[in-house]
Amino acid sequence: MKQHITQQKEFFLSQTTKALDFRIKQLTILQEVLQNNENLLYEAIYKDFKKSEFDTFTSELALLYNDIKEAKHNLKKWARKKRVSTNFLNFPARSYILPEPLGTCLIIGAWNYPYQLSLAPVVPALAAGNTVILKPSELPKNTSAVMAKLINENFDPAVFKVVEGGVPETTELLKQDFDKIFFTGSTKVGKIVYKAAAENLTPVTLEMGGKSPAFITEDCNLSISVKRLVWAKFLNAGQTCIAPDYILVAKSMEANLLKTLKEEIEKEHFDFKNDNYVQIINDANFDRLHKMIQPEKVFYGGNVNKKDRYIQPTVLQNVSFSDPAMEEEIFGPILPVIPYTDLDKAISDVKKLPKPLSCYVFTSNKKVKQKILHNISFGGGAVNDAVMHISNPNLPFGGVGQSGIGNYHGKAGFDCFTHYKSILDKPTWLELPLKYYPHTPKRLKWIKRFLRF
Ligand code: NAD
Repeated sequence: MKQHITQQKEFFLSQTTKALDFRIKQLTILQEVLQNNENLLYEAIYKDFKKSEFDTFTSELALLYNDIKEAKHNLKKWARKKRVSTNFLNFPARSYILPEPLGTCLIIGAWNYPYQLSLAPVVPALAAGNTVILKPSELPKNTSAVMAKLINENFDPAVFKVVEGGVPETTELLKQDFDKIFFTGSTKVGKIVYKAAAENLTPVTLEMGGKSPAFITEDCNLSISVKRLVWAKFLNAGQTCIAPDYILVAKSMEANLLKTLKEEIEKEHFDFKNDNYVQIINDANFDRLHKMIQPEKVFYGGNVNKKDRYIQPTVLQNVSFSDPAMEEEIFGPILPVIPYTDLDKAISDVKKLPKPLSCYVFTSNKKVKQKILHNISFGGGAVNDAVMHISNPNLPFGGVGQSGIGNYHGKAGFDCFTHYKSILDKPTWLELPLKYYPHTPKRLKWIKRFLRF
């Protein structure tokens, strides 16, 4: 491990990674490696949790290809020196900002979208001119292995290397002196990463989770809202960091919402054999989720099969904030519905929980929309939609408070792996004597005149 990091640090110091054509080449290699081996990627992820080619392409590879295209297209612009104006005090001079890569970066991935969440941060890291050690999640062992094989066979390890492993290996990696750590995963492990990074004052980006609410207000278009919400919730069997975690519904809409949810879930035919549903990642998560299903609260679904790690799309009704499903992020196909009679009270209940990664507002009422968007602090979200904000590279993606530190995607990703060096560039043909000795009253008068606040 140490040897790989030393090798990457030495290579970084050679300045090779700073050339734009070198960076473009790395992105092209990544794109080709993925495109030429899609079948291996599909096979591995299907073995891990029965994720289909359709879902893997649409929710993982397509996003990665788009990130690579976007980075290649904009790299020249992003990496350019940026002129800024110079203040009067420094006349005559030019001022500019020089973007520079941070160095050797550690990227730690989560399991739920194993390709997208491991490689999406790699794209801006390489685009910004860094070297990368990637540690994918060990839970989907076949996807971790296929990424290690494809990356390590096709990249110079001095530039990009995959190191596989679980807690002991990650703990060891976190003891090393990186120039940046990018972590995706739980808030619990995010704290471990943050503490370890503090030892070396390493900057971090932490992409974590939380309980993301979805508001269904009285004036929403119910049928289209439910259609979008059901897709977003049960994609990847709810194992999505930005999935709507629970619904807050206006009491007057509750019965209609429950009925429409049932109809929409049935219409979608979520099933492994229909290529639109996946297994729960492991037994521990299956057991954790199973405990959240209180039989007396099941409105729809509730069937499980431990052998297949299957949990049916499940809707819980009459849920309160003290129920088991509301104690932690669900991260599975269980959807609690909480009715509210007073929107302000519902907003204040959400604000009592840690700041979520996302929030969704289904409404056609402008005032209601503004109230929710401005009152609740959350990472990012959508109005009359859910999850899809992740697919717009112009929207920086990240959490706030317990759900994350920092952003990425598009230009925000480039910024996340870049240091902006500020330069004041002065000619020598003029030197005003004012700041030098002797500090006479006349000089002070002039300084005060210059610095008119
Ligand atoms: P996790 O925190 O258990 O694991 C994430 C990574 O940390 C893995 O690579 C794992 O090997 C490593 N790890 C686990 N325990 C560790 C320890 N004690 N010391 C050092 N490293 C350790 O998270 P997960 O189960 O893979 O993912 C689920 C969580 O991630 C959910 O909370 C979800 O919301 C969040 N998530 C967030 C995003 C996002 O983009 N914000 C995306 C996906 C998942």
